[in-house]
Amino acid sequence: MPLTRRSLLTGAAALTLSGRARAASDVEVAVVGAGAAGLAAAAAIRRTGHSVVVLEARPRIGGRAFTDAALGPDAAFDAGPQYIHWAERNPWKPIALADGVRRTDDEAGPWPLVFLDGAPASDADRLRRRTGFARLSAALDHPAAADRSIRDAAGPDDPAMLTAAQGLARLSLGEEPERVSAADYDQLWSGDDIWVDGYGALVTRHYAGLPVRTGMPVSRIDWSGPGVALDTPGGTLRAALAIVTVPVGVLAAEGLRFAPALPAETAGAIEGLRMGAYTKVGLALDPDRLAGTDLRDAIIVRSGRPGLTANLEMRPFGRPVAVLHAGGDGARALCEAGEDAAVAAAADEVAAIFGAKARAALRGGRLAAWWTDPYARGSYSIAKPGRLSARAALHRPVAGRLFFAGEAAAGGGAMTVGGATLDGQRAARAALAALGA
Ligand SMILES: Cc1cc2nc3c(=O)[nH]c(=O)nc-3n(C[C@H](O)[C@H](O)[C@H](O)COP(=O)(O)OP(=O)(O)OC[C@H]3O[C@@H](n4cnc5c(N)ncnc54)[C@H](O)[C@@H]3O)c2cc1C
Repeated sequence: MPLTRRSLLTGAAALTLSGRARAASDVEVAVVGAGAAGLAAAAAIRRTGHSVVVLEARPRIGGRAFTDAALGPDAAFDAGPQYIHWAERNPWKPIALADGVRRTDDEAGPWPLVFLDGAPASDADRLRRRTGFARLSAALDHPAAADRSIRDAAGPDDPAMLTAAQGLARLSLGEEPERVSAADYDQLWSGDDIWVDGYGALVTRHYAGLPVRTGMPVSRIDWSGPGVALDTPGGTLRAALAIVTVPVGVLAAEGLRFAPALPAETAGAIEGLRMGAYTKVGLALDPDRLAGTDLRDAIIVRSGRPGLTANLEMRPFGRPVAVLHAGGDGARALCEAGEDAAVAAAADEVAAIFGAKARAALRGGRLAAWWTDPYARGSYSIAKPGRLSARAALHRPVAGRLFFAGEAAAGGGAMTVGGATLDGQRAARAALAALGA
């Protein structure tokens, strides 16, 4: 574009505005949310010497990356992420190696038990299940021209494929297959997985020492002026610009409001995404009471509880704990029922598989209720069928002073810690460019 007198004037005005915004600010960059994205953004900005403050609603950092030790240090389990996905290019692989955290990429181990309607699956059931997954995988490998749902990709007539679609969507994406874009699923990165003993704790350790104000939920961002003003219980913080990393579920529920309202493109992006409900229930075990029991992992294809598809992880890293993983509407029901009911439901599943002896060995539990958590509003983002472009649209800066980042905006890295981290770093680069740094 040629430089006209008009564009020079506009440019000069923009520079003056940014200068004014900085002069009137408490800090150059305000980051909202101290999850992987916000922490990565803040670390990148701090390295350049620019001033940055992270405002975090919870009393801790890490966001959805959280190792829950409330059942005791030995029985700690990751209430959120536990795998470093697509490890070949994930920034967390070298961090984990340098940290020395316990981890495994060893797939070997006993085959999991498979349960259907409260009973072990027959050989015929297992074969049907494998065939269903193979056919579904082939259907998903040939995306249709239209951006359809995973349920539609499975077709109307094949019950085995439908069960596979439910298993995949609920336990990988946390959502029912009819609500998930198959094309968005297709663009997610894949590769090796490394299982970490305490991914949440690793994130917290790695980012210790950043300027974070915890217990500071931001209720409103006013971006009508030259900079931004963020309302918190501790008062209003003024910054030249803001990087917003709260989950899209929080944005959709207006857990954080904007004045003026967000432009149509950003609002449309938020509307095109939704949060899945992947959920875990941790149960502390007394190993002495389980001597001689073959406590291998189990896949609960269909439990007696309506809509519940689950994985049961027994004694991860040898810890005295069982962790039930569930997703989709069955998981939403667990969150809505509350911790006592969810723990009782998980205990029922353990007892259905390992018997009364296992139930007697249970010592309390914890529900990671991401779906009902006001600062998460779900597990991670999925794109609705037909809304493949939503993640990219969320990237676009608003008025040069609002930058959205996080797993939802992470393209092929969506739904992961690695993706959130890379996206936080991307937003930091964009914000620094806007500051003229
Ligand atoms: C059960 C479960 C299992 C998962 N498994 C894996 C896995 O194995 N591997 C993997 O890579 N990923 C996994 N994920 C996804 C991963 O946890 C997320 O993709 C990643 O942690 C998101 O980081 P983020 O910074 O985008 O968001 P968050 O971590 O959610 O950070 C956003 C922060 O904003 C804060 N916040 C919210 N509202 C406000 C407000 N109004 N004001 C101030 N702060 C606010 C929140 O408290 C939070 O700290 C899993 C997630 C869940 C829930």
